[in-house]
Amino acid sequence: MSKLRAAARSGRGLQQRAGEVRKSPRRCRENVSSHKGMLPPVSAYHLFSHLAEIEAFRKNLLAWYDKCKRDLPWRKLAASESDTNRRAYAVWVSEIMLQQTQVATVIDYYNRWMQKWPTLQALAKASLEDVNELWAGLGYYSRGKRLQEAAQKVVSELAGQMPATAEELQRLLPGVGRYTAGAIASISYGQATGVVDGNVIRVLCRVRCIGAESSSPAVADRLWDLANALVDPARPGDFNQAMMELGATVCTPRAPLCMECPVKPHCRARCRVEKELEFASKRLLGKAASSCSQAPDIEECGSCSLCPPATEPWDSSLGVANFPRRATKKQPRAERTATCVLERRGPRGEPEYLIVQRPSSGLLAGLWEFPSLALGPGLKEKQQREALLAHVQAWAGEAVARGHLRHVGEVGHVFSHIHQTYVVYSLLLGGDPEAASGGRDEELERPAFRWVTQAEFQKSAVSTAMKKVWKACERQSCEERGPGQGCKRKRGADPSRASQRKVEADGSLPPRQLSLDSFLKAPAGE
Ligand code: SF4
Repeated sequence: MSKLRAAARSGRGLQQRAGEVRKSPRRCRENVSSHKGMLPPVSAYHLFSHLAEIEAFRKNLLAWYDKCKRDLPWRKLAASESDTNRRAYAVWVSEIMLQQTQVATVIDYYNRWMQKWPTLQALAKASLEDVNELWAGLGYYSRGKRLQEAAQKVVSELAGQMPATAEELQRLLPGVGRYTAGAIASISYGQATGVVDGNVIRVLCRVRCIGAESSSPAVADRLWDLANALVDPARPGDFNQAMMELGATVCTPRAPLCMECPVKPHCRARCRVEKELEFASKRLLGKAASSCSQAPDIEECGSCSLCPPATEPWDSSLGVANFPRRATKKQPRAERTATCVLERRGPRGEPEYLIVQRPSSGLLAGLWEFPSLALGPGLKEKQQREALLAHVQAWAGEAVARGHLRHVGEVGHVFSHIHQTYVVYSLLLGGDPEAASGGRDEELERPAFRWVTQAEFQKSAVSTAMKKVWKACERQSCEERGPGQGCKRKRGADPSRASQRKVEADGSLPPRQLSLDSFLKAPAGE
């Protein structure tokens, strides 16, 4: 019995062979609905057909939300701001930041953003550089850029007034999709419109046993229909936030807390798990032995367009986590990039590092990075060095031998669709600091660049991946200094000494940078 209770608490059923099909489920084909014209018909089993049930669902969910909701800054702002325009802006910023990013990460960014740009007008006046700087580390950088572009549009083309309906928000604002529009309209303007994000999909798929691929357009349309049917017209913003909160804190992907769930009485997935548990328990106690039933009496749809595919039947070992079904995720493609932390002495002898700006469109648009070069497949280490050296030579302002490029290591970073490996090198310039500015060859077309101190680097609009590159150099520097030297990075002085120690130890390279003259006289192969 205790095993059964534990299984019930975790939302999992008793073990059953994956793929085993129940023999006598009670089919529920009544009220077959095809009200969407082109959409294939679905069974009432996957819908909310009775107003009384919808009302009970809303009441239970909102009562739980009022008691258990997390105290979040954007919720406070939305509740306290009387100006609808400012309220919509505050909600908009939070919704954009929360896309693909966890609440805990967003809070600090959100607070800093709203402090810096408390209104649409303030954001519209900001520079993209400032936006990128504040966004640095939050990922999916185009979101910040698009948010600012949309703010400029509201100010310049819409007289500073936010559109007030979901339809207009989506139509008029770049970067605002159906979900964000619904969230802003319901939370800020009280429009009775539902929202569907990943958390809501999970809740809806479970409460109505929707096992068809949730990202397919037909299923997505059905989910939007369900969300719109359920949303509470008296408190649409709270209802939508409650659905998302439930998905984020109770109806979680792997370990849903069904016993604490306010909509448990309406959840068909949970109902199915409970029936299986009850049946298994009776069997254990011998009560089912006399019955001719070989399977619990489970109500299910059978085969409509919202059911799981016949090839993927209910798996009791998963319990409620049978839903939703996920599409097989496309693997991110692997890419390699050589990157060089190029260092020089600043005018007062302090270490400075070169960062260059990425193009204004595409991945990490407009952000700053150490000089980097995409590596083709199959390049050997020597070829990588040569290619990178040719790339950084123009910045160096002095001829640099290949051997002066120090290999630091490899740093991995996963973007949404790319598994990027940075092959990290460092290069300490020893010549004239003014020359090491890329000041020569001005006719060359190069991206914007600047030399920054460590503190300036940390404050710059650099990606998380570049901060990892920095840390890799820092670690190496620390290791080379050895124990007892402390690991607070003072790049510049220490790495060069360490480099010198290493070079002297293995005798491989001259411990100083070559002048152009020496370079020309250097032995072939350098
Ligand atoms: Fe469990 Fe259903 Fe509630 Fe999700 S919605 S936590 S599956 S009872």
